[in-house]
Amino acid sequence: MKKRLAIVGNGMATGRLLDELFRRNAGMRFEISVFGEEKHGCYNRILLGRILTGGTADDITLKAAGWYADRGVTYHASTRVTRIDGPARKLHTSDDREFGYDAVVLATGSAPFVPPIDGLKDADGTPKPGAFVFRTIDDCERMRAYAQPLSSAVVLGGGLLGLEAAKSLSDLGLHVTVVHLPEWLMNNQVDRMAGEFVRRGVEKLGIFARTGTSAIGVVGEKKVEGVVLKNGEILPADLFIVAAGIRPRTDVAVASGVPVKRGIIVNDLLATAVPGVFALGECAEHAGKVYGVVPPIWEMCEVLADLLTGANPAARYRGSKLYTKLKVAGVDVASMGLVEPQFETDEVLQILEDRRGIYRKMIVRDGQLVGATLIGDGDAAPTLARWFDRGDKLPPNRLDVLCSGDLSPAAADPEICNCHHVCESALVTAIKDGCTNLPMLSASTKAGTGCGSCRGQLANLILKNAPSAGTPETAKAGY
Ligand SMILES: Cc1cc2nc3c(=O)[nH]c(=O)nc-3n(C[C@H](O)[C@H](O)[C@H](O)COP(=O)(O)OP(=O)(O)OC[C@H]3O[C@@H](n4cnc5c(N)ncnc54)[C@H](O)[C@@H]3O)c2cc1C
Repeated sequence: MKKRLAIVGNGMATGRLLDELFRRNAGMRFEISVFGEEKHGCYNRILLGRILTGGTADDITLKAAGWYADRGVTYHASTRVTRIDGPARKLHTSDDREFGYDAVVLATGSAPFVPPIDGLKDADGTPKPGAFVFRTIDDCERMRAYAQPLSSAVVLGGGLLGLEAAKSLSDLGLHVTVVHLPEWLMNNQVDRMAGEFVRRGVEKLGIFARTGTSAIGVVGEKKVEGVVLKNGEILPADLFIVAAGIRPRTDVAVASGVPVKRGIIVNDLLATAVPGVFALGECAEHAGKVYGVVPPIWEMCEVLADLLTGANPAARYRGSKLYTKLKVAGVDVASMGLVEPQFETDEVLQILEDRRGIYRKMIVRDGQLVGATLIGDGDAAPTLARWFDRGDKLPPNRLDVLCSGDLSPAAADPEICNCHHVCESALVTAIKDGCTNLPMLSASTKAGTGCGSCRGQLANLILKNAPSAGTPETAKAGY
């Protein structure tokens, strides 16, 4: 008889877990139910900016309603799970229903962190009109409906999310100022020098950046009219977007007696202390770490799918080496491992191409790559990531590695899509077989359907290998 597998949350982790489960024929073993608080099917949260600039939910949907039905998955949309009863193996929903399960996976993601800010909320606790967070399709649709031509916006947070929001609002024609407490933008991912390059890129887009200060209040009786900075200065603003970090969503776990610290605590099997209850994605805390980007989540999904289906009972999640490759507000940013050297013996190589807006840095310890940052040109990133991941000894001329990624064991066939592990050779074959635009290539190889950061490289590969693709515009259709 089939076992009942329930998944709580229908975000990017669940979408990927379902793919991994079906790749291992989970349909033969499980009756799968998915409970999602949002009304939409699983969508690519990374591309939320597209909704702000006029796109529709369909543009970023990864799994439409039919996907679930076609595979016999029961999808409960707009349904929040409130509590799990571990001993009885039942879960309860906010509409007072209960469902039995044999195994349940918590994939509840994160919620935006909103620091205490005077005047942000009305007396009844609802955000003042004009104040928003940036996490869901609904958030973006509300923001877009509120923004008017010539509106001005202040975005609190100069990290990945804040800069994404700022770029999209600027693309809509708004006057945008980013306010960021640390001294430089993206301080979690890059050093001060790289942060300056990011700032220049952001300012080129017409966005203003105020670093080393924070927003402490919102002015306006009935709606947001301005934002008060720490020094008392008031920035006029019609919209105020708080993008100042995230916190794992642990409410269901807490209500169910599942141990939680920063996130829901899991071991190498992604199991919680409660039998039959697993957790993965941004809500999970493994070995003291919680993650806020997708590559570690993809690794967790593979391990849990192996274990749940029995495809590989020895699979274990040992933690992830962080590698991020992003396009932030139009600037290519890749970072992995250390941002700064830790020991006197760590070697640091830096190359600055000021006019071109390119900055490269690597940190080497005992001949191995332990950290790298690339700004403005991420072409070497996939091969640098291999050096970083494998811990191979670098060749004597490290500059070659830093600039081109050459001499890497992976240089012969670099991995272009790190989310789906698709190498250049597989892409070239697909292009030669007729995938001469981006949607076709993505449908055939899955490349570009994870975080989406490799789409520029995919378009270039199409142009190089399929002259019939015509112009850069046709090759980049959908990019
Ligand atoms: C604007 C933006 C840009 C980003 N850019 C990048 C990027 O460039 N690269 C990158 O790697 N990562 C990026 N990220 C981060 C990435 O989107 C997340 O790491 C990823 O979405 C996490 O997946 P998840 O499934 O764990 O959580 P989520 O995608 O947040 O999904 C969790 C889902 O669970 C639902 N849920 C929560 N509690 C319950 C409940 N009790 N019952 C039912 N449903 C529930 C939530 O409503 C949500 O739909 C970005 C994020 C944002 C917001």
